[in-house]
Amino acid sequence: MRVAVVGGGISGLVAAYRLRMALGLDAELVLVERSGRIGGILRTTDIAGDPVDLGAEAFVGRRPEIPELMRELGISEQLVHPAGRRPLIWSEGSGHRLPEDTLMGIPSGPEAVEGLVDAQTLARIADEPNRPLRWERGGDTSVGALVADRFGEQVVRRSVDPLLGGVYAGTADSIGVRAALPTLAAALDGGASSLTEAVRNALPPKSNTPVFGGIRDGYRVLLDALRAAANVKIETDTAATRLTRTAAGWQLDPVGPVDAVILATPAPVTAALLRDIAPQAADIAGGIELSSSAVVALALPRDAPLPDNSGILVATGEPLRAKAFTLSSRKWPHLATRDVALVRASFGRFGDPAPLSWSDADLITAATEDLSTVVDAPLCPLTAIVQRWPGGLPQYAPGHTDRIAALRNTIADLDGIAVAGAYLDGVGVPACAASGTAAATRIADQLI
Ligand SMILES: Cc1cc2nc3c(=O)[nH]c(=O)nc-3n(C[C@H](O)[C@H](O)[C@H](O)COP(=O)(O)OP(=O)(O)OC[C@H]3O[C@@H](n4cnc5c(N)ncnc54)[C@H](O)[C@@H]3O)c2cc1C
Repeated sequence: MRVAVVGGGISGLVAAYRLRMALGLDAELVLVERSGRIGGILRTTDIAGDPVDLGAEAFVGRRPEIPELMRELGISEQLVHPAGRRPLIWSEGSGHRLPEDTLMGIPSGPEAVEGLVDAQTLARIADEPNRPLRWERGGDTSVGALVADRFGEQVVRRSVDPLLGGVYAGTADSIGVRAALPTLAAALDGGASSLTEAVRNALPPKSNTPVFGGIRDGYRVLLDALRAAANVKIETDTAATRLTRTAAGWQLDPVGPVDAVILATPAPVTAALLRDIAPQAADIAGGIELSSSAVVALALPRDAPLPDNSGILVATGEPLRAKAFTLSSRKWPHLATRDVALVRASFGRFGDPAPLSWSDADLITAATEDLSTVVDAPLCPLTAIVQRWPGGLPQYAPGHTDRIAALRNTIADLDGIAVAGAYLDGVGVPACAASGTAAATRIADQLI
């Protein structure tokens, strides 16, 4: 039995690990990865002698996938949680407390965004339950269109965009309600008479469980553990170029004949590889747009005057070039003890790929200048590292959920083919891991 996994990001590595667990040691597993390293958008590097993540740096800790994986792999002692500080929103040239009682920045009432939006907008939010709401059951629209219509443009730009931008590197206009906020879509489908009511119904119950988790020595610990447990032959610097059907199974170039293939690649690559065998699915995957981003990791003197917040999210339209800062040394207790203060500046929003074309030096200068503006003090980094993520994040446009269901439907009868990845059921690391598990389960069920 020979199974290939294409793509060595978290989706592919989890798929390989789950395949090994299901198929046993006799199965031959091959993972091909186009770049020279595994991890995809998970990348840990050393700054000032200690590990720092340059891609994802956290995961939603209320989802079970990553803590469970860490337990299975024997690395639970690496699980860490943020200190509990909240981020600021930078809007109209100053820092504001992050609105509370919101769903991805959509307020449950005017008090949630007091101080962040003007009095007229607050009055509009207060009046929103009195205005009739038109929502087509099962329908979809962009988060931006829905919120602008009900609460006004300021709520979109100052509260929703900064939060959605952090997850999708998109704006509220490029992201659909149903895929990004399924509980809100359910509340609207369920007949909520206003957006206010729908948000209140959709808000998760208050809980003391930390929302986020992280890995003390970086995602590389998880990647290394997965790689070892998967016991998979990994071929880096090897791009899968073509997938065709044979009498006995599948031919994956340049791997050769295989019984099954898991495509754990970004949507455009998956589209190209599905083109010969499932053209309809290829069209759907090929229609998913991508957003590019860059991260600048800064090591500052330990006593740099950073605010007592976990980060700063920048509202749309501000004259800053960075879209967010993670104040890593404030956010994570395990990083607070380092010799340097660590900050990650993020650049790039959907539709504005300009920062990706800047030189490293220009990105570092922009990160340093913008952070100096925000903290109102001149800062001088000791070290800086630039990491670019071209096409790193798929955009979940309105109708995404239906399109993904159709994609899955069109490949349902292709025995031995499964897909995984960030464009399917969520961009977060837990959702990607879940997609790898689901793909491996499908293949194992067919092969055993
Ligand atoms: C800057 C940034 C910060 C983020 N922060 C967080 C966070 O804090 N928490 C969180 O939960 N999520 C975060 N995310 C999202 C999350 O990291 C990603 O969605 C997830 O890591 C994607 O994993 P993946 O395996 O699906 O895809 P990828 O990581 O993109 O892996 C796909 C792999 O396929 C390879 N490949 C492509 N074409 C071929 C080919 N033809 N043949 C072989 N291999 C190929 C690529 O080289 C790549 O290694 C962040 C994303 C970005 C960009």
